Amino acid sequence: MWQVIGQTRAVSLLQRSLEREAVAHAYLCAGPPHVGKMTLALNLAQALNCESAEPPCGVCESCQQIILAKHADVQVIGLTSNGDRVEAKTRTEIGIDQIREIQHSASLPPFEGKNKVFIIDGAELLSIEAANCLLKTLEEPADKVIFILLTINERLLPATVISRCQRLELPPMPASEVEAALNSRGGIEPGRAELLAKLSHGCLGWAISATLDDSLLQQRAERLSRLLEIIDADYEERFTYASKLATQFGQNRRIVQEVLDLWLDWWRDLLLVKADCSDTVTNVDRLTTLHEMAEGYTLGQIKVFINNIESAGEQLKQNANPRLVLEVLMLDIPIRGGRPSAQFSVKNG
Ligand SMILES: [Zn+2]
Repeated sequence: MWQVIGQTRAVSLLQRSLEREAVAHAYLCAGPPHVGKMTLALNLAQALNCESAEPPCGVCESCQQIILAKHADVQVIGLTSNGDRVEAKTRTEIGIDQIREIQHSASLPPFEGKNKVFIIDGAELLSIEAANCLLKTLEEPADKVIFILLTINERLLPATVISRCQRLELPPMPASEVEAALNSRGGIEPGRAELLAKLSHGCLGWAISATLDDSLLQQRAERLSRLLEIIDADYEERFTYASKLATQFGQNRRIVQEVLDLWLDWWRDLLLVKADCSDTVTNVDRLTTLHEMAEGYTLGQIKVFINNIESAGEQLKQNANPRLVLEVLMLDIPIRGGRPSAQFSVKNG
């Protein structure tokens, strides 16, 4: 049984290819973080090696070995796959050495299974040399060798690599489906399932992690409360905030992107509240604060600032100076119409 939830299009495409014995030599799974790319890739690896009549069964020896990451013919390559923890921490790209290693392995016949499967997690992190090296392998596909590239940003991959792969798009799921999937797992309060479903932006993996790990919601609460402080802060404090974010950007881009996404969610929610669509907001647990704050802005102000946040995100992706981009964004926070700055409650509701 396919374990990936909600990705019916990708699953049925793979299912058909398996039935027709027309599996591609390489796939590119594209979608946001935690949407189910790795689950799908491991499922496909299971299906390609499954011993039962209805692959992937999930229970045969081969399927089990793959889930336990103990199958000799299924290998995951990524930033942290070298087994060298020190190196993994400092590595920022997937190097040519890693690709050469799998090329060597790919040249040997399957050891215990039917097919060799190489999953490249974070393919957008392939160095140029590594991508070119991989391209050679993709251009001369070997029998019984399947590559599955996972990426959150295919724009960073060479077009030549993309053109050699069959593309599988994994879009975010509707919030209602995430909520239903969380409820079906049991042990979660309905209100919490609704909140996590909204905050997940359709990425079930994130929502499931948040049910198991309170620190994700804790982190969101801290970031949100800082956001609310900054909206009412003076320029000096906003610039300090921008500078801190810019420093973080140098160390971990993902964190800054998450913070910007939080800002975007908040201002989109203000827009929705303003437009009487409160039932579709993301921050469902902060409705009172959203209503209070929305009163202070015009629809036009909110729209302009949403554009500003989006263009800041785009500029950061294009390697603009992060400090400059974030400082400009902080200057662009609209001024609340005619009302003195007020501190809003950041507690529930
Ligand atoms: Zn099986």
